[in-house]
Amino acid sequence: MASVALDRIHNLLVNPYVKETRRGGARYPSSSSTTYINQYGEDTVVGTCLRRQWYASQDYEETGEKNAEGTMKALAGNLWSQFLVDRIKEAGFWYGDETSFYNAELNVSGRVDVIVAEEGTRHPVGVEIKTVGTFVSKGVIKPTAAYPLAPKEDHVLQTMIYLYHYRNAIKKWVLLYMDRNTMEMAEHVVRLEEEDGYHYPVISNEMGVKEWKHIRVEDIIRRWQELEIHIKNKTLPERDYELQYANSKIAAMYNTGRLTKTDSKRIQKRVESGEVDDNKPPLLEKGDWQCRFCPFLQECYREEIAPDQISNEQMDATL
Ligand code: SF4
Repeated sequence: MASVALDRIHNLLVNPYVKETRRGGARYPSSSSTTYINQYGEDTVVGTCLRRQWYASQDYEETGEKNAEGTMKALAGNLWSQFLVDRIKEAGFWYGDETSFYNAELNVSGRVDVIVAEEGTRHPVGVEIKTVGTFVSKGVIKPTAAYPLAPKEDHVLQTMIYLYHYRNAIKKWVLLYMDRNTMEMAEHVVRLEEEDGYHYPVISNEMGVKEWKHIRVEDIIRRWQELEIHIKNKTLPERDYELQYANSKIAAMYNTGRLTKTDSKRIQKRVESGEVDDNKPPLLEKGDWQCRFCPFLQECYREEIAPDQISNEQMDATL
Protein backbone atom coordinates (compact mmCIF):
# COMPACT_ATOMS: atom_id res chain seq x y z
CA MET A 1 0.00 0.00 0.00
CA ALA A 2 1.32 3.41 -0.93
CA SER A 3 2.11 5.69 2.00
CA VAL A 4 -0.27 8.62 2.48
CA ALA A 5 1.99 10.84 4.54
CA LEU A 6 4.94 8.91 5.95
CA ASP A 7 7.15 8.72 2.85
CA ARG A 8 6.87 12.45 2.24
CA ILE A 9 7.63 13.24 5.89
CA HIS A 10 10.72 11.00 5.80
CA ASN A 11 11.81 12.57 2.53
CA LEU A 12 11.49 16.09 3.92
CA LEU A 13 13.44 15.13 7.03
CA VAL A 14 16.42 13.86 5.07
CA ASN A 15 16.15 16.54 2.33
CA PRO A 16 14.89 19.70 4.09
CA TYR A 17 13.83 22.65 1.90
CA VAL A 18 16.01 24.99 3.96
CA LYS A 19 19.37 23.75 5.13
CA GLU A 20 21.08 25.32 8.12
CA THR A 21 24.41 26.89 7.23
CA ARG A 22 27.14 27.99 9.59
CA ARG A 23 29.67 30.76 9.38
CA GLY A 24 32.49 29.49 7.16
CA GLY A 25 36.00 29.13 8.53
CA ALA A 26 35.12 29.26 12.22
CA ARG A 27 35.29 26.45 14.78
CA TYR A 28 32.51 25.56 17.20
CA PRO A 29 32.48 24.67 20.92
CA SER A 30 30.81 21.39 19.93
CA SER A 31 33.82 20.52 17.76
CA SER A 32 36.28 20.81 20.68
CA SER A 33 38.63 17.89 21.12
CA THR A 34 41.60 16.85 23.18
CA THR A 35 43.98 13.97 23.75
CA TYR A 36 45.20 12.22 26.88
CA ILE A 37 46.60 8.90 28.05
CA ASN A 38 43.82 6.76 29.47
CA GLN A 39 43.94 4.41 32.47
CA TYR A 40 45.17 1.59 30.19
CA GLY A 41 48.13 3.66 29.01
CA GLU A 42 46.57 4.24 25.57
CA ASP A 43 46.59 7.53 23.64
CA THR A 44 42.96 8.64 23.61
CA VAL A 45 41.15 11.31 21.62
CA VAL A 46 37.89 12.75 22.82
CA GLY A 47 35.76 15.12 20.77
CA THR A 48 35.54 15.91 17.09
CA CYS A 49 38.12 14.40 14.74
CA LEU A 50 40.53 16.99 13.33
CA ARG A 51 40.49 15.28 9.95
CA ARG A 52 36.69 15.55 9.81
CA GLN A 53 36.94 19.28 10.58
CA TRP A 54 39.59 19.61 7.90
CA TYR A 55 37.33 18.01 5.26
CA ALA A 56 34.52 20.36 6.30
CA SER A 57 36.85 23.38 6.06
CA GLN A 58 37.83 22.34 2.51
CA ASP A 59 34.15 22.02 1.49
CA TYR A 60 34.36 18.30 0.75
CA GLU A 61 30.98 16.88 -0.12
CA GLU A 62 29.22 15.09 2.72
CA THR A 63 28.18 11.58 1.79
CA GLY A 64 26.42 8.68 3.45
CA GLU A 65 22.78 7.75 3.92
CA LYS A 66 20.77 10.23 5.91
CA ASN A 67 18.46 8.61 8.40
CA ALA A 68 14.97 10.07 9.02
CA GLU A 69 14.75 8.63 12.55
CA GLY A 70 18.13 10.09 13.51
CA THR A 71 17.11 13.48 12.11
CA MET A 72 13.87 13.33 14.10
CA LYS A 73 15.77 12.55 17.31
CA ALA A 74 17.95 15.61 16.76
CA LEU A 75 14.95 17.83 15.96
CA ALA A 76 13.05 16.45 18.96
CA GLY A 77 16.06 17.48 21.05
CA ASN A 78 15.51 21.09 19.90
CA LEU A 79 11.82 20.91 20.84
CA TRP A 80 12.58 19.58 24.32
CA SER A 81 15.25 22.23 24.73
CA GLN A 82 12.70 24.93 23.91
CA PHE A 83 10.20 23.28 26.28
CA LEU A 84 12.74 23.49 29.12
CA VAL A 85 13.63 27.10 28.27
CA ASP A 86 9.91 27.96 28.48
CA ARG A 87 9.69 26.32 31.92
CA ILE A 88 12.77 28.31 33.04
CA LYS A 89 11.06 31.51 31.89
CA GLU A 90 7.87 30.53 33.67
CA ALA A 91 9.77 29.87 36.88
CA GLY A 92 11.38 33.31 36.66
CA PHE A 93 15.10 32.49 36.51
CA TRP A 94 15.69 33.11 32.79
CA TYR A 95 18.39 35.60 31.71
CA GLY A 96 18.62 34.73 28.00
CA ASP A 97 18.63 31.92 25.44
CA GLU A 98 20.05 31.13 22.00
CA THR A 99 22.76 33.74 22.62
CA SER A 100 25.31 33.73 19.79
CA PHE A 101 28.94 34.70 20.25
CA TYR A 102 32.16 34.83 18.28
CA ASN A 103 35.55 34.52 19.99
CA ALA A 104 38.14 36.16 17.73
CA GLU A 105 41.09 34.87 19.78
CA LEU A 106 40.04 31.26 19.17
CA ASN A 107 38.13 31.81 15.91
CA VAL A 108 35.23 30.01 17.58
CA SER A 109 31.58 30.84 17.10
CA GLY A 110 28.86 29.35 19.22
CA ARG A 111 25.34 29.61 20.50
CA VAL A 112 24.46 29.24 24.14
CA ASP A 113 21.30 27.26 24.95
CA VAL A 114 20.22 29.29 27.95
CA ILE A 115 21.58 31.52 30.71
CA VAL A 116 19.82 31.43 34.06
CA ALA A 117 20.01 33.24 37.39
CA GLU A 118 21.60 31.22 40.19
CA GLU A 119 19.32 30.75 43.15
CA GLY A 120 20.16 33.21 45.93
CA THR A 121 23.08 35.06 44.32
CA ARG A 122 21.33 35.76 40.97
CA HIS A 123 24.75 35.24 39.32
CA PRO A 124 24.44 34.17 35.67
CA VAL A 125 24.92 30.44 35.02
CA GLY A 126 25.05 28.88 31.54
CA VAL A 127 23.00 25.78 30.74
CA GLU A 128 23.66 23.30 27.93
CA ILE A 129 20.69 20.99 27.35
CA LYS A 130 21.35 17.48 26.06
CA THR A 131 18.55 15.06 25.22
CA VAL A 132 19.79 11.50 24.97
CA GLY A 133 18.53 7.99 24.33
CA THR A 134 18.35 5.47 27.16
CA PHE A 135 21.60 3.83 26.00
CA VAL A 136 23.53 7.07 26.57
CA SER A 137 21.64 7.96 29.75
CA LYS A 138 23.53 5.19 31.58
CA GLY A 139 25.92 7.09 33.81
CA VAL A 140 24.96 10.60 32.70
CA ILE A 141 21.48 10.39 34.23
CA LYS A 142 21.38 7.12 36.12
CA PRO A 143 24.55 5.73 37.65
CA THR A 144 25.19 2.00 37.41
CA ALA A 145 27.99 -0.15 38.82
CA ALA A 146 29.87 0.13 35.52
CA TYR A 147 28.97 3.78 34.85
CA PRO A 148 29.26 6.17 37.83
CA LEU A 149 27.31 9.43 37.52
CA ALA A 150 29.28 11.69 35.17
CA PRO A 151 28.69 13.78 32.06
CA LYS A 152 30.09 12.82 28.65
CA GLU A 153 33.64 14.06 28.19
CA ASP A 154 32.95 15.69 24.82
CA HIS A 155 30.03 17.62 26.36
CA VAL A 156 32.33 18.84 29.14
CA LEU A 157 34.82 20.06 26.50
CA GLN A 158 32.04 22.11 24.93
CA THR A 159 31.10 23.76 28.25
CA MET A 160 34.79 24.44 28.97
CA ILE A 161 34.94 26.61 25.85
CA TYR A 162 31.79 28.49 26.93
CA LEU A 163 33.30 29.03 30.37
CA TYR A 164 36.58 30.16 28.84
CA HIS A 165 34.84 32.64 26.53
CA TYR A 166 32.59 34.06 29.28
CA ARG A 167 35.25 33.76 32.03
CA ASN A 168 34.77 37.34 33.28
CA ALA A 169 31.00 36.97 33.62
CA ILE A 170 29.98 33.31 34.07
CA LYS A 171 31.69 30.93 36.48
CA LYS A 172 29.42 27.87 36.24
CA TRP A 173 27.92 25.93 33.35
CA VAL A 174 25.28 23.26 33.84
CA LEU A 175 25.03 20.18 31.63
CA LEU A 176 21.35 19.32 31.89
CA TYR A 177 20.57 15.85 30.52
CA MET A 178 17.15 14.49 29.68
CA ASP A 179 16.31 10.93 28.63
CA ARG A 180 13.82 11.42 25.82
CA ASN A 181 12.30 7.97 26.42
CA THR A 182 11.81 8.05 30.18
CA MET A 183 11.86 11.85 30.76
CA GLU A 184 14.35 11.34 33.61
CA MET A 185 16.77 14.22 34.09
CA ALA A 186 20.08 14.95 35.81
CA GLU A 187 22.43 17.91 36.00
CA HIS A 188 26.19 18.28 36.30
CA VAL A 189 27.69 21.64 37.20
CA VAL A 190 31.00 22.43 35.51
CA ARG A 191 33.43 25.16 36.54
CA LEU A 192 37.05 25.82 35.60
CA GLU A 193 40.03 25.75 37.92
CA GLU A 194 43.57 26.80 37.02
CA GLU A 195 46.82 25.04 37.90
CA ASP A 196 50.26 25.79 36.43
CA GLY A 197 48.66 27.91 33.71
CA TYR A 198 46.21 25.17 32.62
CA HIS A 199 42.43 25.30 33.05
CA TYR A 200 40.69 22.03 33.89
CA PRO A 201 37.05 21.26 34.78
CA VAL A 202 35.65 20.56 38.22
CA ILE A 203 32.34 18.71 38.00
CA SER A 204 29.70 18.57 40.73
CA ASN A 205 26.63 16.35 40.74
CA GLU A 206 24.57 14.33 43.20
CA MET A 207 27.44 11.91 43.70
CA GLY A 208 29.98 14.55 44.69
CA VAL A 209 32.74 16.65 43.16
CA LYS A 210 35.38 15.47 40.70
CA GLU A 211 38.39 17.21 39.19
CA TRP A 212 39.13 16.19 35.61
CA LYS A 213 42.72 17.36 35.27
CA HIS A 214 43.23 15.19 32.18
CA ILE A 215 41.24 17.58 29.98
CA ARG A 216 42.41 21.15 29.70
CA VAL A 217 41.26 24.24 27.81
CA GLU A 218 44.79 24.88 26.55
CA ASP A 219 44.93 21.42 24.92
CA ILE A 220 41.64 22.06 23.11
CA ILE A 221 43.09 25.33 21.82
CA ARG A 222 46.35 23.60 20.81
CA ARG A 223 44.36 21.08 18.72
CA TRP A 224 42.52 23.88 16.91
CA GLN A 225 45.88 25.56 16.27
CA GLU A 226 47.15 22.28 14.75
CA LEU A 227 44.07 22.23 12.55
CA GLU A 228 44.72 25.81 11.40
CA ILE A 229 48.23 24.79 10.31
CA HIS A 230 46.84 21.82 8.35
CA ILE A 231 44.27 24.10 6.72
CA LYS A 232 46.89 26.72 5.84
CA ASN A 233 49.32 24.13 4.44
CA LYS A 234 46.57 22.03 2.85
CA THR A 235 47.86 18.92 4.62
CA LEU A 236 45.46 16.22 5.74
CA PRO A 237 45.51 15.59 9.52
CA GLU A 238 46.01 12.04 10.81
CA ARG A 239 42.88 10.06 11.59
CA ASP A 240 41.77 10.56 15.19
CA TYR A 241 39.46 7.54 15.09
CA GLU A 242 39.40 4.08 13.52
CA LEU A 243 36.66 2.45 11.53
CA GLN A 244 38.09 -0.97 12.40
CA TYR A 245 40.34 -1.64 15.37
CA ALA A 246 43.49 -3.67 14.90
CA ASN A 247 43.40 -7.16 16.43
CA SER A 248 45.99 -6.15 19.04
CA LYS A 249 43.68 -3.37 20.22
CA ILE A 250 40.68 -5.72 20.38
CA ALA A 251 42.79 -8.19 22.38
CA ALA A 252 43.83 -5.39 24.77
CA MET A 253 40.16 -4.51 25.22
CA TYR A 254 39.36 -8.15 25.93
CA ASN A 255 42.19 -8.41 28.46
CA THR A 256 41.00 -5.32 30.33
CA GLY A 257 37.31 -6.28 30.43
CA ARG A 258 36.13 -3.60 27.98
CA LEU A 259 34.17 -5.91 25.65
CA THR A 260 30.60 -7.10 26.09
CA LYS A 261 30.09 -10.62 27.40
CA THR A 262 28.97 -11.77 23.94
CA ASP A 263 32.02 -10.30 22.20
CA SER A 264 34.37 -11.66 24.85
CA LYS A 265 32.93 -15.12 24.43
CA ARG A 266 33.31 -14.96 20.66
CA ILE A 267 37.03 -14.26 20.75
CA GLN A 268 38.05 -15.84 24.05
CA LYS A 269 39.64 -18.96 22.58
CA ARG A 270 41.58 -17.13 19.88
CA VAL A 271 42.95 -14.43 22.21
CA GLU A 272 43.84 -16.86 24.98
CA SER A 273 45.62 -19.17 22.56
CA GLY A 274 47.72 -16.20 21.37
CA GLU A 275 46.10 -16.02 17.91
CA VAL A 276 46.30 -12.25 17.68
CA ASP A 277 47.83 -10.95 14.48
CA ASP A 278 47.11 -7.50 13.06
CA ASN A 279 47.64 -8.83 9.53
CA LYS A 280 44.87 -11.40 9.89
CA PRO A 281 41.13 -10.64 9.41
CA PRO A 282 39.55 -8.77 12.35
CA LEU A 283 38.70 -10.78 15.46
CA LEU A 284 35.55 -8.64 15.72
CA GLU A 285 33.97 -5.95 13.59
CA LYS A 286 34.68 -3.17 16.03
CA GLY A 287 35.70 0.45 15.64
CA ASP A 288 34.85 4.00 16.66
CA TRP A 289 31.27 5.18 16.16
CA GLN A 290 32.71 8.57 15.17
CA CYS A 291 33.85 7.04 11.86
CA ARG A 292 30.60 5.21 11.20
CA PHE A 293 28.65 8.45 11.51
CA CYS A 294 31.22 10.66 9.82
CA PRO A 295 29.90 12.43 6.69
CA PHE A 296 33.41 12.15 5.19
CA LEU A 297 33.86 8.44 5.87
CA GLN A 298 33.96 7.51 2.20
CA GLU A 299 36.62 10.09 1.42
CA CYS A 300 38.66 9.20 4.50
CA TYR A 301 38.56 5.45 3.85
CA ARG A 302 38.47 5.56 0.06
CA GLU A 303 39.43 2.12 -1.28
CA GLU A 304 39.47 0.61 2.20
CA ILE A 305 36.60 -0.70 4.30
CA ALA A 306 32.95 -0.29 3.32
CA PRO A 307 30.75 0.86 6.20
CA ASP A 308 28.30 -1.64 7.68
CA GLN A 309 24.73 -0.97 8.56
CA ILE A 310 24.41 1.38 11.51
CA SER A 311 22.55 -0.19 14.39
CA ASN A 312 19.86 1.67 16.34
CA GLU A 313 21.95 1.27 19.46
CA GLN A 314 24.88 3.06 17.82
CA MET A 315 22.56 5.76 16.49
CA ASP A 316 21.24 6.23 20.03
CA ALA A 317 24.78 6.52 21.28
CA THR A 318 25.46 9.63 19.21
CA LEU A 319 22.30 11.61 19.78
S1 SF4 B 1 36.07 8.68 9.04
FE1 SF4 B 1 36.85 8.71 11.15
S2 SF4 B 1 39.03 9.25 11.00
FE2 SF4 B 1 38.05 9.75 9.02
S3 SF4 B 1 37.50 11.91 9.17
FE3 SF4 B 1 35.74 10.74 9.81
S4 SF4 B 1 35.91 10.53 12.05
FE4 SF4 B 1 37.91 11.16 11.26
